Amino acid sequence: MSTLRFHAVKASINRKPLKIKIDKRRSEIFGANVFNEAAMRQYLTKTALNSVLEAIEKGTKIDRLVADHISTGMKEWAISKGATHYTHWFQPLTGATAEKHDAFFETIGNGLAIEKFGGDQLVQQEPDASSFPNGGIRNTFEARGYTAWDPTSPAFIYDDTLCIPTVFVSYTGEALDYKTPLLRALQAVDTAAVAVCKYFDKNVKKVSASLGWEQEYFLIDSTLAASRPDILLTGRTVFGHHPAKGQQLDDHYFGTIPARALAYMRDLEHHCMLLGIPAKTRHNEVAPNQFELAPIYEEANLAVDHNTLLMDIMQKIAKRHNFTVLMHEKPFAGVNGSGKHNNWSLSTNTGVNLLSPGKTPMSNLQFLTFFINTIKAVQTHEELLRAAIASASNDHRLGANEAPPAIISVFIGEQLTKVLKELETVTKGKLSPKEKTDLKLNVVGKIPEVILDNTDRNRTSSFAFTGNKFEFRAVGSTANCANPMTILNTIVAKQLMDFKIEVDELIDKKNMKKDDAIFNVLREYIKTSKAILFEGNGYSEAWEKEAKKRGLSNNKTTPEALKVKMDKTTLNLFNDLGVMNKVECEARYEIEMEDYILHIQIESRVVGDIARNHVVPTAVRYQNILIENVTGLKAIYGDRFKDFAKEQMALIEEISQHIEAINSLVTKMTEERKVYNKQANIEKKADGYCNKVKPLFEEIRYHCDKLEIMIDDELWPLTKYRELLFTK
Ligand code: ADP
Ligand code: MG
Repeated sequence: MSTLRFHAVKASINRKPLKIKIDKRRSEIFGANVFNEAAMRQYLTKTALNSVLEAIEKGTKIDRLVADHISTGMKEWAISKGATHYTHWFQPLTGATAEKHDAFFETIGNGLAIEKFGGDQLVQQEPDASSFPNGGIRNTFEARGYTAWDPTSPAFIYDDTLCIPTVFVSYTGEALDYKTPLLRALQAVDTAAVAVCKYFDKNVKKVSASLGWEQEYFLIDSTLAASRPDILLTGRTVFGHHPAKGQQLDDHYFGTIPARALAYMRDLEHHCMLLGIPAKTRHNEVAPNQFELAPIYEEANLAVDHNTLLMDIMQKIAKRHNFTVLMHEKPFAGVNGSGKHNNWSLSTNTGVNLLSPGKTPMSNLQFLTFFINTIKAVQTHEELLRAAIASASNDHRLGANEAPPAIISVFIGEQLTKVLKELETVTKGKLSPKEKTDLKLNVVGKIPEVILDNTDRNRTSSFAFTGNKFEFRAVGSTANCANPMTILNTIVAKQLMDFKIEVDELIDKKNMKKDDAIFNVLREYIKTSKAILFEGNGYSEAWEKEAKKRGLSNNKTTPEALKVKMDKTTLNLFNDLGVMNKVECEARYEIEMEDYILHIQIESRVVGDIARNHVVPTAVRYQNILIENVTGLKAIYGDRFKDFAKEQMALIEEISQHIEAINSLVTKMTEERKVYNKQANIEKKADGYCNKVKPLFEEIRYHCDKLEIMIDDELWPLTKYRELLFTK
């Protein structure tokens, strides 16, 4: 019966917003629970402090003896804040974060105990890691994994636990997590970008990638969410008829934030402040009950940690407010999905954003160099960038309502399109003094410091230039940003290395001046990167056709999209840049494919279960009511009953047809699953789940959703879209 649904609706309607009292200013509490420089200055000796700062800045190793001092200071600080436990906090390839808490407590004999936390425990730990996915790495090498401190991301306290950000690697050195390859990719882009910066400014010593993510999510009343087995098990609704009112009116986007949601956000942001997550923006998103939180951008590794931490605390804090956070990319059919735009740029230790136009022609040439190299990198590796955002859940979103398609393209706006057009006509070889002056004055010199394409801020592009950064918009809301950030920074690093080689060759062999050489190489890049540039509507069918003509990939499903990760060129790329060796690449490929299969398998079971055990029995019950009604009418009216029972009889038949269709489709789906479960080849298995099992979801859904609008609302057991989406 539908009692659970009605109970849930009733409970949710009666809820009041939690009162959240915050009496301190944000700036006062920002980072209060973070072992940041201020805390370090207070709790560390000068040697220890300098050692950590140097490790952060230059990546130097921390001496074992110094580590003892650091751990003692860290422990004292943590205890002063009420912490009793510590943990190595890391990001295994499951997508969630992992932690095992140990107390600071240690016995020292004679019934005595002390609070202890030594350098050993700070620097390295051996979690029992056998349950984390490793894609065969540990089986191959028969080695255990260990976690090691990453001093570039500060320790923090959550609840009563000191969390120490760490990498997670096997004893043979292979990365078992998301963070390790990211750190290596950031190192690669640092080295490559510094080398290129030297053409413009000899003082540049370090280039850091920045990331500003925008986290979209749905807030659903927790009792309503719990009343839906599909939300509980898959994070999305596998059934549900569109409500009479969808997002057509867009009134939510412009409206005020509902009171309960606002209380949640205030609570969440308060915790963000304590944890040093610089939450800045909150607003309603397009769909009903959809919201967004965005921080101020940070160094990419730290930003990734902060996003992972945020996703974790979002769920925890939501519980207090009787909300369930849906992080899924497509929780509701026909309604806007959730993404996580990754805003990315590169900046120097001298304080220059390399993707921001400057004041002088020279700084603008530097800007153009990085701008065009990024475009060229995306052009060369568009398929790999697509693979970076591939997941079972993101497949539902890409190419659907209000989301970029599975095609990667770059939007740069009118002004910069014009600049590239002019640069394309630069003379081959040495430039005449007049041409150079002309270029400097009229092209490079004329780029305004602030580029804002107000007229056509293209929201349909998967990779858009937005004034002083690129916005990678196709990243899914559940993703760990480390994955797309690793790939993006790797391909840009590789491109910058190639650029440096080409420019140097022109300087050395063709005797060209530096500027001439740079203009020459950039001109060729503009010519060869045209296919990736697209300013039109990325959501249109016309673009799909056009992209195909241009030879761009359009891998709509994860198994298809991931293939490129096993290409020789990809393996070489990661290997040559020291980001991942072949074993690490293969392991990730395998884990991602398995993850895909697992997700579709679970969804398929849920679809089958709800269809057979919830929908069909309800349909039968309603049909019986109709039959009873028809029988009664016949008893009263005899032969005339048909005049009164036409509708009911048609419904009885229709219901039977839907029940029959559901049963046979679910049987077919189960049979398909059985076939592919036996398949040992992971590619064939994923392919089967993708192309044989998954398409049946929509077919089954069609019949279930039809029944939803046919059957008496009182009987329907599944909480409806209007209840999930419009309860505030
Ligand atoms: P939108 O209008 O797309 O929401 P915002 O200006 O609000 O864009 O910025 C979104 C995110 O981009 C924020 O996290 C912001 O801090 C970040 N951001 C801004 N400038 C940069 C930059 N130079 N590099 C990386 N991220 C940036
Ligand atoms: Mg944005």
